[in-house]
Amino acid sequence: ETILSVRNLTANVDNTQILKGLNLEIKAGEVHAIMGPNGSGKSTFSKVLAGHPAYEVTGGEVMFQGGNLLELEPDERARKGVFLAFQYPLEIPGVTNLDFLRVAYNAHRKQNGLEELDAFDFQDLIEEKLEVVKMNPAFLTRSVNEGFSGGEKKRNEILQMALLQPSLAILDETDSGLDIDALKIVADGVNQLTTPDNAVLLITHYQRLLNYIVPDYVHVMANGRILMTGGKELALELESRGYDWILEENATVG
Ligand code: ADP
Ligand code: MG
Ligand code: MG
Repeated sequence: ETILSVRNLTANVDNTQILKGLNLEIKAGEVHAIMGPNGSGKSTFSKVLAGHPAYEVTGGEVMFQGGNLLELEPDERARKGVFLAFQYPLEIPGVTNLDFLRVAYNAHRKQNGLEELDAFDFQDLIEEKLEVVKMNPAFLTRSVNEGFSGGEKKRNEILQMALLQPSLAILDETDSGLDIDALKIVADGVNQLTTPDNAVLLITHYQRLLNYIVPDYVHVMANGRILMTGGKELALELESRGYDWILEENATVG
């Protein structure tokens, strides 16, 4: 079953074309990694999928579970199961992480026509999910993002994913300061939360991350396109050879 099908997608930011004909097909049960040099359009692609209003789609098609994703508002996309971790860069003093997650989770339930969980039921649910990410419960009573380390922010992202159980989880590893612990947290979360019914799109320039997550496909993106697709061994090849050889091969073909 196809979860995401992207055909010839083009998109602009500030009237500059960033995505230049991107093709990608993701089936249920698969983990895909997109790698590529800085500035190749990886984060732009994740924002286009999430429906970020600053990104203008100018051509092509994105189908999600058989429907046209591009027709949907960002909140509808989230409701239908497209997840891009909600990272709040702001610290919110006085609002605990527990409250924050409960509000986000209940908003998601409400949008899906389900009743909100009360504080007690949510507590039971979150305790179960904390086990998945091996997170200390004390984390929940701290204010949102107040003094969170890079690893704790990552754990929070995986916790959100465990709560919402999206059909397509998009993880864009934009942070430059991910240490080995944070990489392992992301990897454990992805490995545990991938089922035969959902899929993960992992955008990263950390080859090391793919030592812990075994992707089904590795794609190399450059200049707004996917130039090459391979299996997990491609990540190792990129680690030793870099990206230039792929860019050169494509320059002679194009
Ligand atoms: P990656 O995630 O692969 O490093 P990005 O998608 O962040 O790449 O950026 C792709 C290109 O788009 C870069 O050249 C970047 O400068 C440009 N870009 C990204 N966001 C904006 C923006 N808001 N305004 C103008 N240019 C942007
Ligand atoms: Mg970048
Ligand atoms: Mg990026």
